[in-house]
Amino acid sequence: MNTHHNYDTIVIGGGPAGSTVATLVADQGHRVLLLERETEPQFKIGESLIPATYWTFKRLGMLEKLRASHFPQKYSVQFYSGTGKASTPFYFFQTNPHESAVTWQVLRSEFDQMLLDNAKEKGVEIRRGIGVREVLFEGDTATGVVAQDKDSTREALHATVIVDSTGQRSLIGRQLNLNTTEPNLKMASLFTHYEAAHRDEGIDEGATLILHTEEKDSWFWSIPLPYNRTSIGVVGELDYLLQNRRNADGTLNTQKIFTEELAKCTPLQQRLEGATQLFPIQTTKDFSYRASRIAGNNWVLVGDAFGFLDPVYSTGLFLALKSGEMAADVIIEAFDKNDFSESQLGSFGAEFVKGMEAFRKLVYAFYTKEFSFARFLSEYPEHQGGIIDILSGDVFRKDVTHIFPAMAEMCPFPPEIPLN
Ligand SMILES: Cc1cc2nc3c(=O)[nH]c(=O)nc-3n(C[C@H](O)[C@H](O)[C@H](O)COP(=O)(O)OP(=O)(O)OC[C@H]3O[C@@H](n4cnc5c(N)ncnc54)[C@H](O)[C@@H]3O)c2cc1C
Repeated sequence: MNTHHNYDTIVIGGGPAGSTVATLVADQGHRVLLLERETEPQFKIGESLIPATYWTFKRLGMLEKLRASHFPQKYSVQFYSGTGKASTPFYFFQTNPHESAVTWQVLRSEFDQMLLDNAKEKGVEIRRGIGVREVLFEGDTATGVVAQDKDSTREALHATVIVDSTGQRSLIGRQLNLNTTEPNLKMASLFTHYEAAHRDEGIDEGATLILHTEEKDSWFWSIPLPYNRTSIGVVGELDYLLQNRRNADGTLNTQKIFTEELAKCTPLQQRLEGATQLFPIQTTKDFSYRASRIAGNNWVLVGDAFGFLDPVYSTGLFLALKSGEMAADVIIEAFDKNDFSESQLGSFGAEFVKGMEAFRKLVYAFYTKEFSFARFLSEYPEHQGGIIDILSGDVFRKDVTHIFPAMAEMCPFPPEIPLN
């Protein structure tokens, strides 16, 4: 096995978190290598952005590219109750008159590639088709990675800082056994794309819709995409959606389950009349977890590699971009100070987790059957702005915690997950 030590930072995984941290560190003149195991851009789920991503895009130099793209603009999110009643849309500009209140719905294969192209322009060396098998440690200090190409040739690569941005693969989290699943969010999801689904008009055309099914046992997302496509997915508890619906021989008919759930969601059925399903139902499950550490000596976790909450508020991409940005700042500072200790590289952890916890509380509210935003806001209309701020992702720029005491009267919040 060959050994190289030419890099300041190795970033493992070329999703939004990885390309963000790589771009910003390389932009400061450091040698950054990004390894992505896939040779070509792939279909990925996670297609709806929230407005607060604007600020990371600005630093990355991505705003012009997104404005010039064909991605639909998203002004709002709208919720449908189990009875089919629509909330008024939560327009992000209601609390934010700035252009950052408008964001995008993205086709991930194209979006992830745009971020990688941008990283390359900023000096990141990108190698596709290279999967990292393991992170190398000397004691508790990360020193490099074992990379493997498509011909199974292995190579040890060394760098001062190793960033894990492998998404739900969570390479270091698994290697060091850091991850805990959210016990009350054991979910599954079934999804596909449709062509020619009905859309609302004007600024509502690009809205994300979140639609509960009749008994609130599951909910659908509807996300308008380019090429007249709409992403449609259903989320429910793992037991409800998959485990309890296995055939006698243990197999699952996911198309049948998807159709059964759709039959319990009249407003979405109406929108899909005459539309064409573009590919077989895809499945993912057990996606909510968090690591107990965000960094160690010479290593950092970003994006889903640190944790993933739940798809309901489309916070995944924002948290991937934001953690990538925050990690880049502590890495740049680490090179300035020549200090790559856990306390330096993990110094963004407490602030990042505080923002994540705000989303987490709202996720638990959503899954509390007795809770509804309509009821909460009719009792506490003064909190409409706070809700919109969280849905916009403004959890780092504003203090949004003032809404939680009132909300806690209607739904139990989970204890916060500590960060070691
Ligand atoms: C059902 C569902 C719906 C969702 N909907 C939304 C949504 O609407 N909006 C939203 O914002 N988020 C959504 N998300 C979440 C979102 O998809 C993720 O949070 C986001 O993709 C995280 O970005 P990332 O860069 O951390 O990881 P990823 O995007 O997963 O990128 C990780 C990259 O690492 C590469 N990789 C993995 N292992 C290795 C290895 N060993 N070596 C080299 N490369 C490797 C992978 O190929 C991949 O390219 C959803 C998630 C789920 C489960």
